[in-house]
Amino acid sequence: MLDDLLSVPEIADRYGRRLAIIIPYRDRAEHLSQLLPHFAMYFAQDKIDRLLNVSFHVIEQAGKGPFNLGKVRNCGYVLTRDTSDYTCFHDVDYLPIWADYSYTPTAARLIWHGLRLPEDPEFFFGAANMFDNQVFERLNGFPNCYWGWGSEDQEMLARCIITDLAVERRDGTFRSLPHADRGYKSPGGPLSDDGERNLALFNERAEEMHNLMKDDGLNNLEFKLLRKAPIALQGAVLKNAFHYLVDIGEPGKPPEA
Ligand code: UDP
Ligand code: MN
Repeated sequence: MLDDLLSVPEIADRYGRRLAIIIPYRDRAEHLSQLLPHFAMYFAQDKIDRLLNVSFHVIEQAGKGPFNLGKVRNCGYVLTRDTSDYTCFHDVDYLPIWADYSYTPTAARLIWHGLRLPEDPEFFFGAANMFDNQVFERLNGFPNCYWGWGSEDQEMLARCIITDLAVERRDGTFRSLPHADRGYKSPGGPLSDDGERNLALFNERAEEMHNLMKDDGLNNLEFKLLRKAPIALQGAVLKNAFHYLVDIGEPGKPPEA
């Protein structure tokens, strides 16, 4: 009965496409063990998002180097683009309650209510964002140049603005899972050292962004896939969920050949 809806062209347009959800990951087992069953429940039960053809991809950064969210997201995209039409980049620590994962022809921010930290509604573009795959290619993906916490989302929003892309602001309600803060030295206090350094790099890049965005992103991405394994929940292997381990190198050091 519900599947009949997909014969309506307007509904097929938004709900009939393949969505890959990319979950950047390292050392957050407690969060992942909550997110995956929650996603399975959400996409089976949600009144309308249950129509979606969705797959889940946990992308784990190998090694002990600083985490690089933009680069890990780009790896996820490259590993899944052949089997998806649009892509959602999703933090491991936000569980959807009321949300909208339907197709966007441009770019969309999914989260508003339930954010862990106060944010500016106009500029916030983190935690869960989504792109049509062709649009994502045009943006050259996320920047790879921010190691440690911060500024990759700001640069992505800048890339969208420069490309004249309409960014949808969907105001979904999510539940955030608590964790130690990497971005601020104390709650509401100054930025962490990573945060300061990345913000300075962003400010430096901002003036020339229309050129710089062409040279850092999908087109210079280097990584090595070390492992890909299916994911099981309660002993049952899921057909549409995979865990990948990627070597992305470290600052100034490419991945091992
Ligand atoms: N992340 C991770 N391990 C890390 C750092 C980051 O798995 O050591 C992933 C995870 O998906 C997380 C996202 O990157 O939700 C954003 O990082 P974080 O939660 O620290 O950022 P914040 O909540 O301060 O925006
Ligand atoms: Mn977080």
